Amino acid sequence: MKKISIVGGGQSGLQLGIGLLKKGYDVKIIQDRTPDQIASGSVLSSQCQFDAALEHERELGIEFWGDTCPAVEGISFSVPNPNGPGKVIDWAARLDNNAQSVDQRVKMPRWVEEFCRLGGALVIATADIASLEAEVKSSDLVIVASGKGEVGKLFERDAQRSTFDAPQRALALTYVHGMKPREEHSAVSFNLIPGVGEYFVFPALTKTGPCEIMVFEGVPGGPMDCWKDVKAPQAHLATSLKILETFTPWEHARCKNVELTDANGVLAGRFPPTVRKPIGTLPSGAKVLGLGDAVCLNDPITGQGANNASKAAAIYLDAIVAQGERQFDEVWMQAVFEQFWDYANWVVRWTNMMLLPPPPFVLKLMGAAQEIPPLARRITNGFDDPRDFFPWFAEETAAEDYLKSFEAA
Ligand SMILES: Cc1cc2nc3c(=O)[nH]c(=O)nc-3n(C[C@H](O)[C@H](O)[C@H](O)COP(=O)(O)OP(=O)(O)OC[C@H]3O[C@@H](n4cnc5c(N)ncnc54)[C@H](O)[C@@H]3O)c2cc1C
Repeated sequence: MKKISIVGGGQSGLQLGIGLLKKGYDVKIIQDRTPDQIASGSVLSSQCQFDAALEHERELGIEFWGDTCPAVEGISFSVPNPNGPGKVIDWAARLDNNAQSVDQRVKMPRWVEEFCRLGGALVIATADIASLEAEVKSSDLVIVASGKGEVGKLFERDAQRSTFDAPQRALALTYVHGMKPREEHSAVSFNLIPGVGEYFVFPALTKTGPCEIMVFEGVPGGPMDCWKDVKAPQAHLATSLKILETFTPWEHARCKNVELTDANGVLAGRFPPTVRKPIGTLPSGAKVLGLGDAVCLNDPITGQGANNASKAAAIYLDAIVAQGERQFDEVWMQAVFEQFWDYANWVVRWTNMMLLPPPPFVLKLMGAAQEIPPLARRITNGFDDPRDFFPWFAEETAAEDYLKSFEAA
């Protein structure tokens, strides 16, 4: 049976590795941190996943948290009134199928356990070019799913497919217990504060049970880009609450009794969204294939990275199996990534649009959703499959035609 080596035991690497084991492949994962180190380390993501991505996990029998993870039932969207209190846009809609977020500090150690139970070989080491050279000699295929890890720089940045070359948001996460639940139904409560950034919050499952994850997306240099000197966890929580008090008092009102889930329930950082060429060439000339964030890294503003990683892992799994006894050559590698890119290019386009100041027609659509529930539902469910945003969310004439269709109806 064919041998596959995967660098990186995160969302995409473990999902693919487990899928391959279930198909009878001989799989090795090289991972730089032990499950205990992941579990006891800092939060990594807010990892909200929508139904289509979760379905890939269900198909593999590794969606272990359906009963214990609080459901995310919809999306709400608000824009504060720039001239006074309250909001100028405020709507919510339900997802057709619930989303959920399981802290990767809970999920990845459990998946590692499952990977090993199924007979996978786990090597705890930081892979570098020399170790990749060793892997290509002993495996039929080497996949690099190292997320934002350094080894991913092996893949050349694709200038045509990358819109930005600098971080577009100052990111921060704050995991809390004790937040007042959103009334009506649970949701990703998304607040767009023009010129300042975005704040969104939703229920999740962490090490200490159900929690809420606060996500801050500050425009660089603006008032929400304020994490540089915030070191202590309690100071991080205080800064989070100060931002809410200043820009979204309705969200602050939900936080009277919040406390951090744990001292590691905080994160701050930034990175440039980057698409890379999917094939890496080692000094020997051997080729390796990139997967997940290593080759398609999005800003978290639209919550798509872990969704993309799951969808990519599912595409790669099918493609590996379909290749049968044939070689995994460069042509095959490029074709597999292009199959993923046929989907992901829409995700990247939509995500990158959301990082720029919204054009008036997008604000008009978002405002109209307040009066037109089917439009609110369509925007909400677009998070599960962003291809559905095109062309009406991206082109002014298509947006106008779409809005007119509601008037006609
Ligand atoms: C602040 C923030 C919020 C986010 N929120 C969301 C969200 O709500 N929804 C969503 O879908 N996505 C979200 N994401 C993105 C999501 O977390 C990632 O896209 C997803 O985890 C990518 O999966 P991956 O398998 O490509 O990489 P990862 O999950 O990052 O896994 C890579 C693994 O490789 C290991 N590794 C790295 N280098 C090496 C090496 N040299 N050798 C061995 N191992 C190595 C790493 O330790 C890690 O375990 C968010 C990200 C951030 C930063």
